[in-house]
Amino acid sequence: MLNIGLILPDVLGTYGDDGNALVLRQRARLRGIDAQIHAIKLGEAVPETLDVYTLGGGEDTAQILAAEHLIADGGLTRAAHAGRPIFAICAGLQVLGESFRASGRVVDGVGLLDATTVALEQRAIGEVASTPTGAGITAELTEPLTGFENHQGATILGPGAQPLGRVTRGVGNADSAATLDLDDAPSQRTAEGATQGSVIATYMHGPALARNPQLADLLLAQAMGVRLQDLEPLNLPAVDRLRAERLSV
Ligand code: GLN
Repeated sequence: MLNIGLILPDVLGTYGDDGNALVLRQRARLRGIDAQIHAIKLGEAVPETLDVYTLGGGEDTAQILAAEHLIADGGLTRAAHAGRPIFAICAGLQVLGESFRASGRVVDGVGLLDATTVALEQRAIGEVASTPTGAGITAELTEPLTGFENHQGATILGPGAQPLGRVTRGVGNADSAATLDLDDAPSQRTAEGATQGSVIATYMHGPALARNPQLADLLLAQAMGVRLQDLEPLNLPAVDRLRAERLSV
């Protein structure tokens, strides 16, 4: 049985990112692997022995509540320290960093990513695409990454974290945000997402794992303790069509 943790869907579930847990469960079941989703709500303890964890996006006030709960509870941190895979989207990425700016103040993050989030003057909204860097536990990724971004935060990575992708379209982390003009050339804002230890984080909504099946299978493989190449390939023409459409816009 594969146990998937859907972390705080009541506060980090505004953008359909709950779908990432559904995609993991479905891709496991299609391979004959039984899988179930455990939704952990605000105020509930995060079990530290699940096989994989997902966190979605959220509004500023909601993500402050999420950060406060995850710090006080400590279960997700213990899971990360035990090497259990964690996938975080947008507000989820910001919450796992050292600090983020939300509702006009600086808030402590969980500290699983060497990342600091400040505020952009102009909200970044639209398609985002990137080429995987292959950093850390994402070494097996080869396929272009695609998603939809909608954030006010600009995330600067410290030396402990590495980008998940290099932006080919859209904004991504907006890592030179202090001086960023969103009309700048993409080369001036190249990092998308972050990876550190067992955490993979991104600004891609979509849900990201529906739009990036290779990334979904990488997380599944890590949850199962096998290599990506050891997973039986799935033939899903609808997913291929979705990707072709999204990558061509
Ligand atoms: N509230 C955060 C921001 O605006 C995160 C938004 C999101 O999760 N889409 O940057």
